[in-house]
This record gives sequence, C-alpha cells and structure tokens, in this order.
Amino acid sequence: MTTVTSPLAVWTQLLEGNQRFADDSVVRPNSDRNRREELRGGQAPVAAVLGCSDSRVPVEMLFDAGLGDIFVIRTAGACVDATVSGSLDFAVETLGVKLVIVLSHEACGAVGAAVTAVEDAVVPVGLQRVFVEKIAPSVIEAQAHGAEGRAGVEKEHARITAEHLIDRVPAVRDGLDAGTLGVVAARYRLEDGRVEPVLERFAR
Ligand SMILES: [Zn+2]
Repeated sequence: MTTVTSPLAVWTQLLEGNQRFADDSVVRPNSDRNRREELRGGQAPVAAVLGCSDSRVPVEMLFDAGLGDIFVIRTAGACVDATVSGSLDFAVETLGVKLVIVLSHEACGAVGAAVTAVEDAVVPVGLQRVFVEKIAPSVIEAQAHGAEGRAGVEKEHARITAEHLIDRVPAVRDGLDAGTLGVVAARYRLEDGRVEPVLERFAR
C-alpha cells in the first residue's frame, strides 16, 4: 500500500485492494524481503480491523494488503471485550491508524449460534455461551429493524459493534470528532469476495 493521508483515502485504497482480490488480480504489495527489513524499525499501519476468527476471512488477503499495513484483531464473531477495546485504543492512540473497520461476514457461525439461541430460546452452556451473550443484542436489534435473514443480522452486528466502539472507546470517539479517524462497518461476502460497507463514518 502506498502512504495516504486521510481516513477516506485509506478506505478507498482498501476497497481497491478488495476489488483486486475479488477479481483474482492481486498484486500482494509490501510482502517482500525489503518490506520485512523496513519494518524492523517499527510499524505504522494505516487501518485497524476487528474481524472474525473464521478461517475463511483472512483480513490482509481479502484487502490485498501486505506486512505492516493493517493492525488486525480477530475474535470469533468479532466480539468485543476489554482486550479488544485496549488493542483498538493502542492502534489509534499509539500507532495512529486512520481507519477502524468492523468486519462481519457471510455464514458466520457465532452469529448463527446467537440467531438460533434467540429464535429457539435455547442458550448454550459452557464457554461458547459468550457468543450468544455478545451477539444476541445485535440479533434483537436486527429483527426490530426488519433486517432480512442471517445476512441482515451479520450486517447489523457489524454496524452495532462499530457504534459501540464509537460510544465506548474514547480514542475512537475523539479521533472521529477530530476528523483524524474514520470508522467503517462492513460485511464480507464469501460468495463473490467483496466487502460490502454498511456504515461509513468520517466525521461526527
Ligand atoms: Zn464469523
């Protein structure tokens, strides 16, 4: 990736990379020995992405980005906890990323578990209960807004998570207020490889 200055320019560049990925015309930028050497002195990624741990959603690959380009946080269902919030705070405050992206995806198992729990009123026991606890609010809001099917819940989950980060992570809120940070929510489609935006905020 080339050096860009504004949050919107970063988003445009990432979308161009996603287009190349979807078209099978990746250039794999910043992935060679020189880049590796250059990064020994430190990192200055342009964006932070909170995505799902799902093995089908490798963030750098689907944006055709390279080493040192994206600060990636992945949890199952892109769920937020204190470690995630702290990691994002670090990315914004210390690394100076210009864009925060919350990325959900097609056929997300964690979202599916939450949908099943809400619709069948059966909450799993054990550690995986946490996904229902974290995602059920998105299912309820999606249904209240008339969102269509699983895809609708996946989009709503990304949007609500992004709003949550704006409200609760001071560095994100302040960056948005100052115009130095953009916040995007999007859903990745396995079907065609495209990242579809559902929320794009570049100023409060
Ligand atoms: Zn997932």
